[in-house]
Amino acid sequence: MSTPPVIVIGAGILGASITYHLAARGADVALVDAGLPGAGATRHSFGWIGRSPSDLSPAGELRALGRLHWERLAREVPGLDVHWSGALVWGDHFASVATRDGQAAMREPHLTAPPALSEFRPDDGWLNPTRATEALISAAQANGASVRFGTPVTRLVSSRGGVIDGIELGSEKLNASTVVVAAGIGSSALCATAGLELPMVSSPAIMVRLRAPSGIVRGIVANDLFEARQDVDGTVLMPLDYNKESSTEELMQAGEDARRLFGESFTGAQEAALLSAEIGWRPMTADGEPRVGYAGTPGVYVAVAHPGITLASVIGDAAAEEILTRTARDELARYRPSAEHLDNT
Ligand SMILES: Cc1cc2nc3c(=O)[nH]c(=O)nc-3n(C[C@H](O)[C@H](O)[C@H](O)COP(=O)(O)OP(=O)(O)OC[C@H]3O[C@@H](n4cnc5c(N)ncnc54)[C@H](O)[C@@H]3O)c2cc1C
Repeated sequence: MSTPPVIVIGAGILGASITYHLAARGADVALVDAGLPGAGATRHSFGWIGRSPSDLSPAGELRALGRLHWERLAREVPGLDVHWSGALVWGDHFASVATRDGQAAMREPHLTAPPALSEFRPDDGWLNPTRATEALISAAQANGASVRFGTPVTRLVSSRGGVIDGIELGSEKLNASTVVVAAGIGSSALCATAGLELPMVSSPAIMVRLRAPSGIVRGIVANDLFEARQDVDGTVLMPLDYNKESSTEELMQAGEDARRLFGESFTGAQEAALLSAEIGWRPMTADGEPRVGYAGTPGVYVAVAHPGITLASVIGDAAAEEILTRTARDELARYRPSAEHLDNT
């Protein structure tokens, strides 16, 4: 009898990256999602690949590796565009920055009130999260991965005592050599079907999209009032805190306020038009740190991480190696979901 595939549940940026890295290593892998690729948190993401304001939590050390692995992926995955634009940051939120310069006006010439002191982070960049997810999945398919979308997984199943060796899709069952749970905010519920606890406190945020003339924002701009970046087609993205908006009208009002702020902050931005304002849920564990690794029940490998765009590159690479070779990768050692892991942790 042939060995069943590794099944990855979740076609967000994390599941797509894990699937790509498994397939690139020659594994038999199947990717399953309840919806379309990138339709969960990934779709709402700002797409910033970067350090945290303080370089500490969450996942401080892992973020730098995330950047390096995105550089690699941009070289090896067709159609994966990573824009190393750098980020211009200032304000109390970034007060811990070590070096400051007075070059904001040069870096972002359309700012109406460039700050006297700011920090430019040349190593930061961004990608379009949905397009990146699709590119990773296409590359995985080119390496032999199979995909099933629009198919919710109802539970993890075990046909031999205590070992998870398959998934249930309604009335259908698929066998798996390993089940990877990369289901974002759906991960807790799936783990619970195997008796595993994965405490999560997923948090909401609003993503505002504006249509604007291209070339207004050069890179990533972030301060105490707003964050903004502009995609290649001119679309401006502005993530906002969720302030308990409870109707479409209130959400659109939040979007209108962001549009006005954008118009005041950049020259040439007054004609920007609101395209959408939507709530996204960031999959986060109880302490905000990633959880990646075998989960305590044999056969189940968990991958939940924030900030997931920044980290998906390194986690995909490390998770694939751990699953296929059964050796533990050092960079994930701090982030295990369970005390029981691979032998050398
Ligand atoms: C407004 C906002 C801005 C953000 N900005 C950034 C940023 O700038 N940089 C950064 O690094 N991160 C950012 N994040 C966080 C980042 O978007 C997430 O960490 C990342 O997208 C999580 O990816 P994921 O693959 O784990 O989850 P998801 O993208 O949510 O994917 C999980 C997938 O699992 C599927 N699924 C769930 N349950 C089941 C089931 N039972 N059966 C089958 N499929 C299932 C879902 O359909 C979904 O497609 C932001 C998030 C938000 C909301």
